[in-house]
Amino acid sequence: MRAFCFTVDLDRDVNTPVPGEIPAGSVDRGAGTSPRFGSARAGLDVLLGILSDAGMRATFFAEGRTLETISAGGLSRHEVGVHGYDHEDMTSMSGRDIRECMSKAVGSVRSTVGRDPTAFRAPYMKMNDAVLGILPEFGIKYDSSVYVPLNASIMPRVLPNGITEIPVPEGTDSSGKKIAAYLWPMHEGRRKPDDYVKMASEVEEGVFVLATHTWHMTESRDGGMMTPDQASRNAENVRTVLEGIIGMGFEPMSVPEAAEYLPNAGN
Ligand SMILES: [Zn+2]
Repeated sequence: MRAFCFTVDLDRDVNTPVPGEIPAGSVDRGAGTSPRFGSARAGLDVLLGILSDAGMRATFFAEGRTLETISAGGLSRHEVGVHGYDHEDMTSMSGRDIRECMSKAVGSVRSTVGRDPTAFRAPYMKMNDAVLGILPEFGIKYDSSVYVPLNASIMPRVLPNGITEIPVPEGTDSSGKKIAAYLWPMHEGRRKPDDYVKMASEVEEGVFVLATHTWHMTESRDGGMMTPDQASRNAENVRTVLEGIIGMGFEPMSVPEAAEYLPNAGN
């Protein structure tokens, strides 16, 4: 079986590290780097519509403060995992601070979605052994914070501490250019939907994880706020990718479902 995990990082708009501070900001559009949430909120509605039309569940890795700031009612039919509380680089934090962050982040999923999260993606995809070692204390069983080379077989891997890793693939395209299974360059107008469908086509067994951000449905990092026309073309591109991958026989499922249903590669 080939599983398809569409994963969405629900975090502050165009998040960016702020020098000297743990909480992330948003890219400066003339009013400083204070975090903004408008594009995250608007983009969530766009993605929920696309997912509803496709009849598929996705996994949202939700940053606590964003979850508490925007209306997140529509997330209840999807898997909701943890993505930090203030989009922290957790690899730069002490064990005590990581635990405090995880406690707040898990609490915000519980209070807004009504369920205990079991999946995790590290902000900035920055993960280390210290962070990984703490996750089970907070009920986390599945992680998707690691890149692996795109391969014919991508299986879940159970790590020594019992966490199952569902990795994000990265490879090279037909012209030899690096491509990761994050839709970022497509939203910025630098890649076509077919590039990602081709990526998925190389996976013959296991799981293909594809990732994006809600804010990227309405705001481009380089181009600023999208016009309605740009946003609608952007949404159409996401539909094309999802339909292309599902059309090849991939079965859409959440990260925990993929971890439980697929054979794993062992320790
Ligand atoms: Zn993020």
